Amino acid sequence: MKLIVIGAVAAGTSAAAKARRNSEDAQIVIYEKDSYISYSGCGMPYYLGGEVARAEELSPRDPAFFRSKYNVEIKTGHEVLSIDPVGKSVTVKNLATGDIFSDSYDTLILATGARAVTPPIPGRESSNVFTLRNINDMLRIETFLNERKPGSAAIIGTGFIGLEMCESLMRRGMQVTLLEKLPQVTPGLDGDMAIRVEEHPKKSGVAVKTGVSIAQITENSVILADGTEIPAGLVLLSTGVRPNVELATAAGVSLGKTGAIAVDTHMRTSLPDIYACGDCAEEFHVVTGQPVYRPLGSTANKTGRIAGDCATGGSLAYRGTLGTGIFRVLGLSVAQTGLSAREAREAGYDTVVCHSTKPDKPEYLGGKEMTIKAIADRATGRLLGAQIVGPEGVDKRIDVLATAISYGGKAEDLFFLDLAYAPPFATTKDPVLYTGMILENALHGARPLMTAEELLERQRAGEPTVIIDTRTPESYQKSHIAGAVSIPLAELRKSADALDRDAVTVTYCNKGVTGNAAQNLLLNRGFRRVYNLSGGMNQYTAVKKMQER
Ligand code: FAD
Repeated sequence: MKLIVIGAVAAGTSAAAKARRNSEDAQIVIYEKDSYISYSGCGMPYYLGGEVARAEELSPRDPAFFRSKYNVEIKTGHEVLSIDPVGKSVTVKNLATGDIFSDSYDTLILATGARAVTPPIPGRESSNVFTLRNINDMLRIETFLNERKPGSAAIIGTGFIGLEMCESLMRRGMQVTLLEKLPQVTPGLDGDMAIRVEEHPKKSGVAVKTGVSIAQITENSVILADGTEIPAGLVLLSTGVRPNVELATAAGVSLGKTGAIAVDTHMRTSLPDIYACGDCAEEFHVVTGQPVYRPLGSTANKTGRIAGDCATGGSLAYRGTLGTGIFRVLGLSVAQTGLSAREAREAGYDTVVCHSTKPDKPEYLGGKEMTIKAIADRATGRLLGAQIVGPEGVDKRIDVLATAISYGGKAEDLFFLDLAYAPPFATTKDPVLYTGMILENALHGARPLMTAEELLERQRAGEPTVIIDTRTPESYQKSHIAGAVSIPLAELRKSADALDRDAVTVTYCNKGVTGNAAQNLLLNRGFRRVYNLSGGMNQYTAVKKMQER
């Protein structure tokens, strides 16, 4: 049996390694047009930021390693030009010699990955403009930074790569501007969480401009459509990626709805004996079952393993994608899993949303607050997605939530998770448990939440709403929601009887806890329509700021 794999980064090498574990007899060849293989693309921003000393640390394995450990032949500098699915062969060009030859296969795995999208901005071919997709891109950027020593950079696009690179270039002492055409940074997040991300780099002196249109790039600046000139000795285009599917489509392989290669759960394409995995392949969403394209290294390794298994007689089957991801920007961790509230609504769910701000561990051991936004289906209570922003402990909370969602967990299940606790690691009730309690109270405990967006909408529509600020009079004096009355929780017991029991009433404090206590008090006294403001004044302020731009 002869297996040919095209592409030798995350998916291709995972596929080949698994194929070898299944079969000692298979002849396995990987063609890779690049010179680097099996590298950590995810580590590249950290090399450019000086956290990884040597580029070689990102690609510790070479073809000799694969030959000796797996008996897999990796031919770098070899581009596959075409596939003949009937004759079961590929045409390959040796890029060093120019020789073109044909090689036959029994089974073929496409692991051709993705490439950076470069928007058609005039001046994008200037010598100071880069994308970051592979090791050669990274080395080009490193050389440019060392030789030209630009003092400023503009990053166009604010997905996770753009924000990671913002941190890296700041670490090199550069003045960084983030430019985003959408009204918010980190387009995958809901706006009310993205605003928290946006505010953070500004504190370190990063200029952030959203909703911009770019007219031109020059050798030392980016010029916006409104004429503003942004200093930019270096320009990084991080405006997303597109799957490399041309080779596949030319051979007759079908694409899916997302434009990536359509595969079944065994990573089989539409053509016999041809598999696809990693960034060139489409996935399906765990929650909706619908096709999605979430090109991530975590998924590429997984789907590569499945392709390698199934190509050699195995039966591993993919269980879907949640798009779980995390990144760090200047000390802030930003993570998400599952559907955003926007995606959930677009998918037809009636959503219940909560925001909870809690420390990752006790404050006496330096605990720092994170904000968790969680989304559940009102009809079933099923968790649909979560987003977390905070300095510490975000990684484990997002993974717990991703695990719960993967297994069809409901809001009510979160409170019962038996999570590890000791003061250096967590609080007695972990932030994840609180999230479950709040969601469950809203769903079944008759303790409904109102989001900041919903309250602002009511205010705009002039719908009568009694808004009670339950914080101290001093906090109220400093700032409060327009139209709110100040009734600190301790006072509320005395003055509740003077309030209208039938009015739509919203209670709030800074983060939601005292607001919830006030809500309980009123509901227990027979008030009918009392909502706690989800995430409290903090969330309201962030959303209002976002909406007023
Ligand atoms: P690729 O890495 O794109 O590799 C495909 C290979 O196929 C390429 O080397 C290409 O040269 C080769 N090829 C294509 N066509 C041919 C042909 N015709 N003939 C021969 N060879 C061919 N993911 C995460 O999960 N977490 C992160 O933190 C993260 N950070 C990232 C940071 C950066 C800066 C970047 C760029 C990506 C990051 N990713 C991250 C994404 C992750 O790196 C990719 O999802 C992963 O590399 C995909 O692996 P792949 O093997 O499918 O494709």
